[in-house]
Amino acid sequence: MNYKDYYEILGVPRNATQEEIKRAYRRLALKYHPDRNPGDKRAEEKFKEISEAYEVLSDPYKRAIYDNQGYVGLRSSGYKGFEDITDIFRTFSDLFEEFFGFPFGEREERRPQPGADLSHDLEIDFEDLFNEKKVKIEIEKYEPCEFCSGMGYDLEKGVKLCESCKGKGKVSYSEGFFRITYTCPDCRGNGTLYIAKCRDCNGSGRVWKNKELEVTLPPGIEDGSIFRIQGEGESGLFGGRPGDLYLRIKIRPHKYFYREKNQVIGHLKINFISAILGDEIEIPYFGKTLKVKIPPGTQPGDEILIKEEGLPDPKTHKRGDLILKIQIELPKKLSKEGEELLKKLAQVEGIENSEKVLEKNFSSYSYKNSKKKKESFWEKIIFGKK
Ligand SMILES: [Zn+2]
Ligand SMILES: [Zn+2]
Repeated sequence: MNYKDYYEILGVPRNATQEEIKRAYRRLALKYHPDRNPGDKRAEEKFKEISEAYEVLSDPYKRAIYDNQGYVGLRSSGYKGFEDITDIFRTFSDLFEEFFGFPFGEREERRPQPGADLSHDLEIDFEDLFNEKKVKIEIEKYEPCEFCSGMGYDLEKGVKLCESCKGKGKVSYSEGFFRITYTCPDCRGNGTLYIAKCRDCNGSGRVWKNKELEVTLPPGIEDGSIFRIQGEGESGLFGGRPGDLYLRIKIRPHKYFYREKNQVIGHLKINFISAILGDEIEIPYFGKTLKVKIPPGTQPGDEILIKEEGLPDPKTHKRGDLILKIQIELPKKLSKEGEELLKKLAQVEGIENSEKVLEKNFSSYSYKNSKKKKESFWEKIIFGKK
């Protein structure tokens, strides 16, 4: 842990009075104040160092610990120092006002600050994926105040001359022989101040409201994809840039179709006559009618591929295919006449009854063949039979 001699940092003797410590800090704070040394990292470090030294030595309790146990003792008592410059301004705002006639830290708050990013879930339908889709969305967010055009003050009442700097935008402070000039903190160097805060936004330059946006989504986008819309987040403060809006796409599942990448898949039910004889059927398909050829002898689970009727690739716009998986519907009940016809058909076509079919299938491979193979294998190799 590095050793810090707070007395040396402030340039005061170890028995310095509170008054001497305060005077020393005031002198050094003027010299190293970040506003006087913009972009100077060394001055900033120095400012932090003197502020820490002042905080410890101006507090009788912390000073006593430091005097008796040194810097290490002070740290182990829980003292952490300052996080950053803003932390110092916050802690010493009254002191700085006393020193310089105004609180330095307040300027921080009116610096341009970027607006926050926003996120929004957007649900669309499966059919929206086939073409470019325009969607209207409504979001609640901070928008620039219309009444004051984001300026934060009442434009009708206008501005007045800043009294702190008499309109010069700069103020001076004399320290012995030195004359130190700063940007006026009251008017931020403008030389003018507004007369009244804007009543709509209370001076912030932005208001909370609903905004309607129209977004164009490319076709074929994936569920869960995220779109960034630049500048449509919350508006910034004091001229800061707006944030971005992130849209997360959710696709509502379709009743009959689903996707695998750019392929669309559906289960198509056909009747057994069409399956046997072949057919050409028409199916409604996302705003159009598709003619589907069923080849004769189509089996359950067969797939019919229809080229380029799937989803477009969001980038290349090349379409995937549509795959129809065939399901065959069998009638649960037939008329007497139908039954007779089917029996006749079975006879004509030589279709055997189910009992025979089962026996045939069973004996042909699943039982006898596997048993036979097994036996001959073991008999030959282990028992040496045959
Ligand atoms: Zn306003
Ligand atoms: Zn001023």
